[in-house]
Amino acid sequence: MPSSFPAPCPASRCPMAPRGRVWPAPSSSSGWMNGPAPRCPSTICCAICRAKESLVSPLASEWTADALADPVPLARALIACPSVTPADNGALDVVQAALTALGFAVERLSFGEEGGEGDQARVDNLFARRGSGRPVLAFAGHTDVVPAPADSGWTRDPFAADVEDGLLYGRGAVDMKGAIACFIAAVARLPRDHPGPLAFLITGDEEGPALHGTVRVLEWMQAQGITVDHCLVGEPTNPEALGEALKIGRRGSLSATITLRGQGGHVAYPHRADNPVHRLVRLAADLTAAPLDRGSAHFEPSSMQLTSLDVGNPTPNLIPAQARVTLNIRFNDHHTGASLQRWLEERALQACDGRRDAFTLVTKLSGEAFVTEPGRLTTLLEDACLAVVGRRPVLSTSGGTSDARFIRAVCPVVEFGLVGQTMHKADEAVALADLESLTQIYHRFLERYLEAPE
Ligand SMILES: [Zn+2]
Repeated sequence: MPSSFPAPCPASRCPMAPRGRVWPAPSSSSGWMNGPAPRCPSTICCAICRAKESLVSPLASEWTADALADPVPLARALIACPSVTPADNGALDVVQAALTALGFAVERLSFGEEGGEGDQARVDNLFARRGSGRPVLAFAGHTDVVPAPADSGWTRDPFAADVEDGLLYGRGAVDMKGAIACFIAAVARLPRDHPGPLAFLITGDEEGPALHGTVRVLEWMQAQGITVDHCLVGEPTNPEALGEALKIGRRGSLSATITLRGQGGHVAYPHRADNPVHRLVRLAADLTAAPLDRGSAHFEPSSMQLTSLDVGNPTPNLIPAQARVTLNIRFNDHHTGASLQRWLEERALQACDGRRDAFTLVTKLSGEAFVTEPGRLTTLLEDACLAVVGRRPVLSTSGGTSDARFIRAVCPVVEFGLVGQTMHKADEAVALADLESLTQIYHRFLERYLEAPE
């Protein structure tokens, strides 16, 4: 917290405190806890009070389409909720209030276990709809953020939503509360009675295990018979300037551990042992001997990286009984998780002279490679970028995975959001000018998409 931080404001004056609203307050030592405050002690609240001339209360009754047409107050209200994955801490309340004010029917969906931890943690999500008919365009995103620990180099309160020198600072500013605010602002700039069917799929565990967010909401939609026809994900896709890159797909990711088993023994009597380290070396050399492929129409060459070779044997005159290789493959559309698993199995079998019982292979597939072929969806976004920021984005498939890997099973999906330079870093920040430009890009895209749907 900056030393110049103002004294707590009285609850009666705080725009965040009225009507019994529960806002997260800082506990004295260990982060954040929820609780109503008779006198608002929240650093968040005080930071917001300092700038209340530009801030709107997150209560639905106080958001108006005019106010929501500016993405900045909404982005600040979202950043002010310390929604470190999988906690929500009011972030989806802010989204719900804004979308309700714009005429959306909002469903809140929680999955996982109350009080659960890790993979079992409860995750809050939101699905909202407005209008009827087809095609339905959905905007997808997440309100959860990665942590911002005190020792990670932040020079300001990561949840104070400070604005300084044209930048809005805060955890989630670019990944991806800012983009959610921009899309809502773009919708707010449409005529209120616009019939174009729109949906929002906003989830709370994209930065975590991604088990009880998008996957579960998509299952819920299927059970309800709810369909969407195209989806835009607001992940930060631009490396350095808005309009540089539009993601039309993502590489797949497969992690694997191959454990080679042998027979331990004395190094002086190798004929009585079976050394798995020698096979480990052969296997590692074989796996790295040649590139997996040369790339494809929309993808770079696949990349296989050995991440560890483990024997763990501290004794120089002992042949160990087992050895292990771990690796990760980021793969393009020449491969699938299953084809790569078979490839690894064949390589291990060869290193073990055809003995299936001499190794075990354990794989974890985080996502298959996918690509949305360029078409109307990408053209409309490219045109909107060109019109607003004068750049035609490249169609990219680089980088890590995102929840688009789940959505692609339901409908064509593309990703376009803010500039990712500071995402997950200390002093994450977004330029106010970028918030306005992205809102204009989304708005132009929406107008064209909705005026002549395919
Ligand atoms: Zn993200």
